[in-house]
Amino acid sequence: MTEHLAPTVASPTRHEVGDDMTPFEAASYFFQRSADRLGLRDDMREVLGTSYRELGVQIPVRMDDGRVVVFRGYRIQHNGARGPYKGGIRYHESADLDEVRALAALMTWKNALIDVPFGGAKGGVQCEPGIMSTDELQRLTRRFTSMISYIIGVNRDIPAPDMGTNAQTMAWMMDAFGQRHGYTPGIVTGKPVELGGSPGREEATGRGVIIAAQEAAKRLGMRFKGARVAVQGFGNVGYWASILAEEAGATVVAVSDVGGATHNPQGLDLEAVVKHQREAVSVSRYPGGEEMSNEDLLEVDCDILIPAAIDGVIHSRNADRVKASLVVEAANAPTTPAADRILTERGVKVVPDILANSGGVTVSYFEWVQNIQQFRWELDQVNFELKKRMRRATEQVFARAEADETTLREAAFDIAVQRVARADELRGYI
Ligand code: NAD
Repeated sequence: MTEHLAPTVASPTRHEVGDDMTPFEAASYFFQRSADRLGLRDDMREVLGTSYRELGVQIPVRMDDGRVVVFRGYRIQHNGARGPYKGGIRYHESADLDEVRALAALMTWKNALIDVPFGGAKGGVQCEPGIMSTDELQRLTRRFTSMISYIIGVNRDIPAPDMGTNAQTMAWMMDAFGQRHGYTPGIVTGKPVELGGSPGREEATGRGVIIAAQEAAKRLGMRFKGARVAVQGFGNVGYWASILAEEAGATVVAVSDVGGATHNPQGLDLEAVVKHQREAVSVSRYPGGEEMSNEDLLEVDCDILIPAAIDGVIHSRNADRVKASLVVEAANAPTTPAADRILTERGVKVVPDILANSGGVTVSYFEWVQNIQQFRWELDQVNFELKKRMRRATEQVFARAEADETTLREAAFDIAVQRVARADELRGYI
């Protein structure tokens, strides 16, 4: 096991604003620009610009065929001034130290912006969950949990699902942690409801995305009802965002997954797309739509574009071809800093990730509260509280952007960074 404290600061000025930034350099870019606007002191800039703790572990796992494969895993705690660390666990081949470090920092800003009492963290294991058996995934999850168990805890650091992990993964984590520490449902969120998960958690991120999209549309003078929506990524977040967009009166004209995209300008029959995806493993080649690539989906004729898959998909080479007038970032970091600049210059409004996808961590917070109190909320209460918080945060971001004449992303970062800096100051940490 290796543990690194206080890594070197990623230089914000080393790179021109291009697409060649690493995920952490891109996340740092938005933070450093905010620090400039806020006139943050150098010592505070260094504290907020680096991780508090970075744990890297090797995870030997016996595969079903008898081989032992050694995976690499991380748990990174970025800042804990506002509460216990909180953030998902990603299983993906690209989940390396830099990517997990970037996602941990984004969690700090997201949690501060939506105003839940958590700091920011993220975990990741570099693996391909799609080609692993359920038994292999369970062995990997149990060993990873025991390796990070001395830095997580109900009042220390609470993992949740992210790309490649789900409620089942959280159930294994809770069980592995409980074997050593006793029954501890609040150690993870996003658990199955039968094990203390919250009603509404599964769809919470997608629900939050659509609440933010509706609020943004209203403030921009766009009609959400009847708007044409394209969604990249038809996994947990993209699926729920599509379903709830349609429920709110929009027309979903294109969706995609890693296998490709499907497009129908008249609107897709989402239930039929889901059925096709289940049978054919991908939404591509869905008979009720025209097949297209994931890249083309981003440029499709629509009013609202919702990237809900991976980072860096909107970049300097396609940003000028995005036709949507509103981009709602359901994925983390789908827009590179270079593309962000191009979209801004073109007048395309972007609801940033740290606002748009914060519904997931908000309901994770409700789950943690329910676990601590050993009390179950009704779904209506969960959705009511989620809507209230999403609306309030969206309103605050729009108000700040208008007052300071900034983009929505700049306003969101400024609010979040200011809150975290204030908490560090009040604690006397710096
Ligand atoms: P998921 O694993 O359920 O779904 C991911 C989807 O993206 C799948 O449809 C997959 O096929 C597609 N995809 C993967 N690689 C792709 C590629 N190269 N090109 C196009 N599509 C690709 O994951 P999820 O939980 O829905 O997360 C999606 C995004 O939302 C991630 O960026 C994640 O960090 C972010 N997010 C998730 C949550 C949550 O609660 N699950 C919360 C906040 C943010």
